[in-house]
Amino acid sequence: MKKYIFGALVVVLMACVVTPVMAAGSYTATRYPIVLVHGLFGFDDIAGYDYFFLIPQALERDGADVYTVSVSALNDEEVRGEQLLAQVQTILATTGAAKVNLIGHSQGGLSTRYVASVRPDLVASVTTVGTPHKGSAVADALDGLADTLPPVRQPLGSAVDGLGKLISVASGHPDNPQNSLAALSLLTSEGAAAFNTRYPSPALPADCGQGAAQAGGIHYYSWTGVTRVPTNVLDPSATALVATGQFFDTPNDGLVSQCSAHFGRVIRDDYRMDHLDEVNQVGGLVAPLEINPVSLFRQQANRLKHAGL
Ligand code: CA
Repeated sequence: MKKYIFGALVVVLMACVVTPVMAAGSYTATRYPIVLVHGLFGFDDIAGYDYFFLIPQALERDGADVYTVSVSALNDEEVRGEQLLAQVQTILATTGAAKVNLIGHSQGGLSTRYVASVRPDLVASVTTVGTPHKGSAVADALDGLADTLPPVRQPLGSAVDGLGKLISVASGHPDNPQNSLAALSLLTSEGAAAFNTRYPSPALPADCGQGAAQAGGIHYYSWTGVTRVPTNVLDPSATALVATGQFFDTPNDGLVSQCSAHFGRVIRDDYRMDHLDEVNQVGGLVAPLEINPVSLFRQQANRLKHAGL
């Protein structure tokens, strides 16, 4: 009898130890590679510090094949989109995969849309996080300010380009061209509308509703956050983003309005996250009582997996 009890105990213990390991190993195991695309002033990593902070690791740990790409920190979408397309083609050639799952943060979402528009055959899904599909009131304000001082527009643009160059050099991509004024024009309401005319998407809602969740074989998703008070007192960027949010007269994440971020199936548009919290910045300092942004990326990978993507 003792032998049987001991045997049963061993089986139960093994189940306790083995089951979580097996389950944890496949939660984010998508069929196609996941490609993370950074936004304005973004990078893949600087000396090992990721733009998508701790996110690639969390996705890879449970089975996803993840690539973080590098496009120009500051430029328009014809340039950034073509850079992304070239990297997607390299990823497909390296892995032998037929398609990729693109996830873009902020302006990175416009880059993913560019690729889905010009090479839909290479894209399984597009997910945008805090992307200004219809522009940003902050870009409108900066553009208006630069217009009132025409003599400083070009020198200021060159100075900001220098910052973009610094990011490109620091992240090991010194040849990425920078054009901050082109980026600024794209991110205004007018510039975004022109981009949407050149690269229309069925996932783009006309109003503040949902876009097509699936069209032409591509699945579309988005989520975004809203900040009204600083999400984390230890993170100075949280206070700065509440300040920039004052440019808007509607709920926003500090740089992008709730409605501008709507795209495809809107998973949620009111997480207590500012624009940087959405990618777990700075250094993981996010709202303590909100779902962790890393969990959102994990959940999305799981959603893609269950959609067969
Ligand atoms: Ca933060």
